[in-house]
Amino acid sequence: SPILVWLRRDLRLSDHPALWAAMSSGRAVVPVFIRDELVDGLGAAPKWRLGLGLEHMAARLEQIGSRLIFRSGAALECLNALVKETGASAVYWSRTYDPEGTARDTAVKAALKDAGIEARSFDGHLMFEPWTVQTGQGAFYKVFTPFWKNVRAVDVAQPLGAISSLKAPDSWPESESLADWSLGAAMRRGAEVVRPFVQLGEEVAQQRLDLFLQQKVDAYDTDRDRPDRDGTSCLSENLALGEISPRQCWHAALRKREEGSKGAETFMKELAWREFAYHLLWHTPHIATGNWKPDWDKFPWNEAETDEVIAWKQGRTGIQFVDAAMRELYVTGRMHNRGRMIVASYLTKHLLSHWKIGLKWFEDCLIDWDPAANAMGWQWSAGSGPDATPYFRVFNPVTQLDKFDPQRDYVSRWIAEGRSRPHEDALNYFKAIPESWGLSPDDAYPKPIVAADKGRERALSAYETRDF
Ligand code: FAD
Repeated sequence: SPILVWLRRDLRLSDHPALWAAMSSGRAVVPVFIRDELVDGLGAAPKWRLGLGLEHMAARLEQIGSRLIFRSGAALECLNALVKETGASAVYWSRTYDPEGTARDTAVKAALKDAGIEARSFDGHLMFEPWTVQTGQGAFYKVFTPFWKNVRAVDVAQPLGAISSLKAPDSWPESESLADWSLGAAMRRGAEVVRPFVQLGEEVAQQRLDLFLQQKVDAYDTDRDRPDRDGTSCLSENLALGEISPRQCWHAALRKREEGSKGAETFMKELAWREFAYHLLWHTPHIATGNWKPDWDKFPWNEAETDEVIAWKQGRTGIQFVDAAMRELYVTGRMHNRGRMIVASYLTKHLLSHWKIGLKWFEDCLIDWDPAANAMGWQWSAGSGPDATPYFRVFNPVTQLDKFDPQRDYVSRWIAEGRSRPHEDALNYFKAIPESWGLSPDDAYPKPIVAADKGRERALSAYETRDF
């Protein structure tokens, strides 16, 4: 009888342990994607990007004689219906590690087993299962460096090969239409503005990895901090949806490291940051919803959507680094890591606004949105997380620009106001934003809403007078 393979954040055919096991059984395989409440709850950009990823994955599966069946509703109900319709006796899937996904999967597994169905979950989204990495005392890691020392020595299994055919069932169950789901409905600017920046699917992700390792990795140590250079892999978008596996990235980098590339080691360390984020999310799920250190509940964060917050979202704080990065986010669905740190610091320290506001905005705008990396990144920036930057270390967005965008190439790419010949991307921003924002490239560039030095003083004084 067939095996259902329930796809989620694993939209690839290579190094896919769940699909591999299903294929190897010699039985028919029915790949299925379920639009449940977790999918409905995604932010606008990630949901739109998921739709593109699913369309691509469905086409890939058709190329190898299979299909992707789309169903919507509660996961267990959909799976039970498919079990009935196809006569399947097993359901396989790749694990996810966010609290809602984990709770759903645990319940689904128990119910399927009770009904006599084989229910198996597989690894693949991570290299190091969160419960397998432990301190000498058997606890989880709260600090990255010892986590890295631990995992760096682990012999990560070689990636599995690509699946080139899957046995089809005698008859296919009915599928809903992905197009009818309109996963991009809330992403008004998706198709026109952001689409050119998307690199879709497994083949392209592999090319991206190869190109990065051939051309960029040797300078990665320095270039990775420079938003004015194209120095990073940009694979986060593909890793987020499993269009490439971390194991594939790790092993390719390992080969480069063995050839003596120092940048390759740094890249592997960044992949380990991704694992660390999941380690934290798994062991302390509240990292995604509330201050990791509960003392910070007493900090006077402003949780309101103030005019300053709106200016931050709209990229018109008058602080060039912040505005450039926020506009990059709106137009491309991505933001350079240095930019993410700067805008997060500015929101939570200069503006004293709650990090949850930024977390949510990123969740709505990022095509590489990842529940673990986003939560860790925000709490790290705000000072409320484990292994966070200390609150008193306030990034100065002006001196940071001198350091990381010395020729102002990055800023010129994203800020049109006051320039005789603005960059195309800077103009694109004004085409992308809703009319209701009332902004035009002919406006004068705004004065800082909170100046770099003043904001720093205000943040430090809030920190010094806190009562914890
Ligand atoms: P590269 O430099 O090429 O790194 C390779 C891979 O390592 C990345 O693709 C990513 O998977 C991982 N990685 C690198 N840096 C980090 C990091 N600091 N934390 C976790 N993983 C990392 N990353 C996301 O993927 N999704 C998010 O939603 C996200 N939100 C963030 C929010 C804030 C406030 C901050 C400060 C960081 C956030 N990051 C997030 C981490 C980081 O900015 C991105 O992973 C990185 O910019 C992606 O670009 P890249 O693929 O070119 O990275």
